[in-house]
Amino acid sequence: MPFTELQNELDARAAQGLLRTRRTLESPQSPHIIVDGKPYLAFCSNDYLGLANHPQLVAALQQGAQQWGVGAGAAHLVSGHFSAHQQLEQELAAFVGKPAALLFSTGYMANLGVVQALVGKGDTVFADKLNHASLNDAMLLSRAAIKRYRHGDMAQLEQLLGQVKDGRKLIITDAVFSMDGDIAPLPELLALCEKHDAWLYVDDAHGFGVLGEQGRGSLAHFGILSGGHARSPLLNPLPHAGEEANESLRAFHVNRIIYMATLGKAAGVSGAFVAAEPAVIETLINHAHSYVYTTAAPPALSVTLSQSLQLISQGDELRAHLKQLITQLRGGLSDLPWRLMPSDTAIQPLLVGDNQAVLELSNALRERGIWVAAIRPPTVPQGTARLRITLSAAHSTANVAQLIGALHELAC
Ligand SMILES: *Cc1c(COP(=O)(O)O)cnc(C)c1O
Repeated sequence: MPFTELQNELDARAAQGLLRTRRTLESPQSPHIIVDGKPYLAFCSNDYLGLANHPQLVAALQQGAQQWGVGAGAAHLVSGHFSAHQQLEQELAAFVGKPAALLFSTGYMANLGVVQALVGKGDTVFADKLNHASLNDAMLLSRAAIKRYRHGDMAQLEQLLGQVKDGRKLIITDAVFSMDGDIAPLPELLALCEKHDAWLYVDDAHGFGVLGEQGRGSLAHFGILSGGHARSPLLNPLPHAGEEANESLRAFHVNRIIYMATLGKAAGVSGAFVAAEPAVIETLINHAHSYVYTTAAPPALSVTLSQSLQLISQGDELRAHLKQLITQLRGGLSDLPWRLMPSDTAIQPLLVGDNQAVLELSNALRERGIWVAAIRPPTVPQGTARLRITLSAAHSTANVAQLIGALHELAC
């Protein structure tokens, strides 16, 4: 039986508490979901602003389908590139302060396409060890040499950069680390790029829509948008440089950033985009296989996303509420046997450690009607299994109080 070997591997995985299974939702994404006929209070989506089932976006998708139909029918380079895509790309580029942007069908595909198109044999990728799996796959696919640095360790990164003399150098990083919630030191990374003539690829899947002024993302959070105001001390004027020179110096710095954000998390829909200098975008259109060799996403999704961008830019109240929930949760969980990881973002992991123990905790919460995802290796390093609590602006303070209360009960 050819399947016996597979089944044995699956059984071994199950014995270690590592078998993955899916649960089927019978309701739209929201803090209140129905699974197997039972209602749950959920803290595990990446729908940070509660837009996934927003009535204005549902209406925009209906209107988009009326106007454009349901399928793009071809790849972007054949006959699948619509004015709805084009308009959204322009809006996204302007929103994140870059001259050009390119849509991809998913963030996973954007990461594969960008890294593969920009570096290859003879080049080197420098990567944080806690980067998202899609960035790890992307660098393997690119066939560039790979140097991984300890999480956030700028000294080690600098040392590694100094060892490489030839070829292109590309630093790749999550902006907000997806399983940890902490934010990468983007100004320091940018300064290292400047010093070592490297490029910086920033994956802002969890920052776009949530961080920075108007939700413009992690670059805005640090004041390193091309069109924004420089706030980082590392981007200060050179001595004796005049105002104009300062501006061009800063522009030169931020040009090194290739920005990617996904559109299925805070934006509530689906897809991703890359924003960068026009030469980078042209290169992707010509060389990124996951862009060239795939059917374009439905134009109706772009119509929906243009509307989502409006809601994001006007979403200060949603972001303020989310911030309040984060403070409430951190305050309420400070005295548990399990430690909250250091994070100021909507991703609030509770470190449990043992694979079986995290499953038991997650199951016990579920018996109390609360859904939080247990995250285990290989998604996170061995011995660091955790509950990945994610908050959304759609949660109420009463919802968060309920989670805090349940975790205290289970800690006794
Ligand atoms: C979710 C995620 C992706 C993948 O994006 P999709 O649009 O879901 O394919 C990439 N990078 C990070 C950091 C993510 O969290």
